[in-house]
Amino acid sequence: MDVFDGNSSEHANLPRNMIENSMFEEEPDVVDLAKDSTAFPTFPALDPDEVAYEPCSSRLLVRGLGENDMDEDEEDCESSARLLGMSFMNRSSAHRSASSPFSRQSPPRTCSRPSARTMVVCVLFLVIVASMTMVLYFLPGCNFTRTGCRKPNKTTPIESVYPLSTNGELFPWAQLRLPLSIRPLSYDLTLNPDLDYMTFTGRIVINMAVLHNRKCIVLHGSNLNITKATFKLGDGQVHDVTVLEFKPKQQLAVKFSEELKAGQHCVLTLDYSAKLSHTYDGFYNSSYSDKDGNKRVLAATQFEPLSARKAFPCFDEPAFKATFLIKIIRKPNYMALSNMPKANSTPLHNGLVQDEFEKTSVNMSTYLLAFIVANFAPNSKNVSETVVSVYSVPEKKEHTYYALDTASKLLKFYNEFFEIDYPLKKLDLVAIPDFLAGAMENWGLITFRETTLLVGKQSSPLEKQVVASVIAHELAHQWFGNLVTMRWWNDLWLNEGFATYMQYMSLQTVLPKLDIGNLFLAVRFRALDKDALNSSHAVSTEVNTAEQVEEMFDSVSYEKGASILLMLNTSLPGDQQFRKGIIQYLKQFSGSNTDTDDLWNSLTQVKVSTQHQNISEMMSSWTSQKGFPLVTISRKGDQVNLTQEHFLLTTDNATHTSSLWNIPVTYVNDSCSLAPECRQVFTLNTKSGTFKLPESVKWLKLNYRNTGFYIVHYGDEGWAALKDALSKNISVLTNDDRASLIHNIFALSRLGRVSFDQVLNVLKCMSKETETSPVTEALLQLNRIYGLLDKRQETNIVSRMKKYILAHFGSLMNKQTWEEEDSVSKQELRSALLQTACSLAEENCTQQAKSLFKTYVESNGTFRIPGDLQQVVFTVAAQSDEDWSTLLSMYHYVTYDAEKRKMLQGLASTQDTRRLVWILNAGLKGDHIQTQELPLVISTVCNGFAGYLFAWDFIQENWDRLIEKFPVGSFAIQSIIKSATSQFSTQAHLDQVQAFFFSLKERGSQMRSVQEALETIRLNQRWMDRNLSTLRNWL
Ligand SMILES: [Zn+2]
Repeated sequence: MDVFDGNSSEHANLPRNMIENSMFEEEPDVVDLAKDSTAFPTFPALDPDEVAYEPCSSRLLVRGLGENDMDEDEEDCESSARLLGMSFMNRSSAHRSASSPFSRQSPPRTCSRPSARTMVVCVLFLVIVASMTMVLYFLPGCNFTRTGCRKPNKTTPIESVYPLSTNGELFPWAQLRLPLSIRPLSYDLTLNPDLDYMTFTGRIVINMAVLHNRKCIVLHGSNLNITKATFKLGDGQVHDVTVLEFKPKQQLAVKFSEELKAGQHCVLTLDYSAKLSHTYDGFYNSSYSDKDGNKRVLAATQFEPLSARKAFPCFDEPAFKATFLIKIIRKPNYMALSNMPKANSTPLHNGLVQDEFEKTSVNMSTYLLAFIVANFAPNSKNVSETVVSVYSVPEKKEHTYYALDTASKLLKFYNEFFEIDYPLKKLDLVAIPDFLAGAMENWGLITFRETTLLVGKQSSPLEKQVVASVIAHELAHQWFGNLVTMRWWNDLWLNEGFATYMQYMSLQTVLPKLDIGNLFLAVRFRALDKDALNSSHAVSTEVNTAEQVEEMFDSVSYEKGASILLMLNTSLPGDQQFRKGIIQYLKQFSGSNTDTDDLWNSLTQVKVSTQHQNISEMMSSWTSQKGFPLVTISRKGDQVNLTQEHFLLTTDNATHTSSLWNIPVTYVNDSCSLAPECRQVFTLNTKSGTFKLPESVKWLKLNYRNTGFYIVHYGDEGWAALKDALSKNISVLTNDDRASLIHNIFALSRLGRVSFDQVLNVLKCMSKETETSPVTEALLQLNRIYGLLDKRQETNIVSRMKKYILAHFGSLMNKQTWEEEDSVSKQELRSALLQTACSLAEENCTQQAKSLFKTYVESNGTFRIPGDLQQVVFTVAAQSDEDWSTLLSMYHYVTYDAEKRKMLQGLASTQDTRRLVWILNAGLKGDHIQTQELPLVISTVCNGFAGYLFAWDFIQENWDRLIEKFPVGSFAIQSIIKSATSQFSTQAHLDQVQAFFFSLKERGSQMRSVQEALETIRLNQRWMDRNLSTLRNWL
């Protein structure tokens, strides 16, 4: 799955230009409407309650970092938050004791007042019992169980406590993971969705093999109303059975009086009914307006990770692979799609049609199954043995050509690269109008957001880059994930890290003009930033709850996973070992499941050179522990000394871990620094290591082109030598290396190893920098600090910081054009520079943007704003009353999703509090703004001073509704928490965030992103404490 929708908070930290798809197709309908002012709807009336609304947190902060001078109102706010927390605690514990499925009912008792004698006897009795218990307990080696003292080293199984099913019977299973004794072999699923009433009925026939003797079958099912259940063992009779349900774990069970015996086969048939989901997972309904403004409905699926069970009873874990035969009943005016090609269509007596799809030719995991009932139009092409089709709503068929062409090229590339042909006869790529994730790799039926699949003829290369990279990611999954699947979600990175790595790698070969390298570099920087926190986790990490499964979809699984694969590939001798290793891995485990060790073993087994390296040994240090190393270098004579330690951002100034990594340290020096041949490698697998270098070498740059996942500290002398070299000639290092120095110096400042003066000195020696990667990295880092200062209302420093940024980048900003630009890299650079300039209200920039917007509105559809500049222009326009309303009207009529999103970001960037409240509520309600866009709305709102306070209060007040839309732990929730809290830097806000999340208990308090939020606030606070005085003096 590509969880990143192109605008998520993970990516929001990237230079925006790098990830945001903006596009403007000449759509006569849209532009005509824009011109015809009578067609604009008026701004929706604001609810008086909303207008009067003032966030508590705004008052806390606005009064100068408030924690020391709270007035009564503020104290009320805080204490009400605490009281709220208490009431939640009370409610949840009361609720638990009343309804816990684990509770056992105690027999009714009568109460009478005991006599004094009875009480004395009872007390004596209790004292004796307690003493005996103590004596027994302290007997050496005694372990207590229900059966008394258990002798050590004897494996007496402790009786499990089984929960109660919904009907009051004991449910025969008490664990999250299903028992391994029964294995599904094939599913035969018939579905009958009713798009008028948003319900569906289904019949599932599951063929199973019994692997171990067992008296029950346990499988998954969630919110399914089972109406009939029958069972057949071997050649025996079909008979009715009762299905038990344990809702908290979404499990179903059938119990038998006699054991099913290993080697037997059996068939379970279940009829059921359910509602189509109104969220974005399971079998869900979705709607959109067609070009005539009519509402159209469709039903689609999103099963990864845990939602196949919401559409049909199944063994919903990735290791339970099976074959599937799907039949879908539909109205004649709809079409149905599933993973496999359609085998036949049968008209039914009730006027409906049943489509039957071919049985899957491969064994697959349940999360990869998919089906859609909609009105879509295809655009198809043959590639080798596969029919590739791109589906969209009919009026957007024109926008499918680029995706079709790109998918065909990439399919050909992967077929050759992996030396295994894509195994299905068809590959559909479908743009769904309302879809939460970026895309989902269902085998043979990949689903996308419209933004990540559709582009028009006039789209800019940057817009195409987004589409191409999502397609490349999802296609790579057809091998990594679909053909070979992780055994359990703890190794999700085997799917996602690989698909992410392949997405960049394949595009560099297949579509080099897209300049994907800049984006990959920026993505690696962000992965380092996240992994530096104590709340991070190992790439391969234990997962024991549904929330933890959801949380695995984060930048560690995706981007750190991809980064360590890049590091491995670039550190292996020759260019074929990596490829040969993964081919061996795919062939060896084709159709089955793996864990991380299987991958490293396959890569180790392939020997293409005499230089043997134990990859397993090297790479397990990167996948089994969280974080990454800081490599510090010092030189004495011809000795170069390297040391490693955990780069851990903590507020107590100390690193406490004894982690060690096996680091392939690469380096270049002043005699040869640009070409790949200059690169030398030193393996640092101990705390410190030494190598020799002639004293005449003036400087060293480690981590050549930042292909390694570590940060380097050069020490005072090392940094001075590099600065000296760069001041004379900036081109002594590659663009990637210069960007890497900028990233590393900011990271070291956050760690507290260098002062902010040193950071500014490094920037100073690169004042002539004009290349995309270093400039965008510097802008991103400075904007982060600017944002923190702005939110603290450090008005003096803010205005001086603004002057600094404009002085440093001003001439480069002024050189940017506002016309169409062909180069992706130049678009990325221009968009980052102009977005910063306009957000700092630089006169030239805002004037240009305003005039472009005016021309665009007045042009009668003949003028197009270049795609990479649309967001700058819409954001500037949205700051004026009149243009905000114009933009809102256009937003309602634009059918093209990419452009619509740029407009939405413009609308959400307003500083008008009435409008902010309206837009947040509209996103939650899903009427004017689709709920899929709410995380984007929140992250955009949080960028502005007025907005981020409202957003934080909005999230607190609407938490329950948010987790109803987006599951606890999901990427959307992670993104919302990060957007709302990452700019806090005061004790008052830390307390508030802590109190709120603590009060949530099982509704989200345990999320890793909560820990991340708290850590980030503490680190922001520390950075401010340390550097505010420097900033005051320096700027
Ligand atoms: Zn993916």
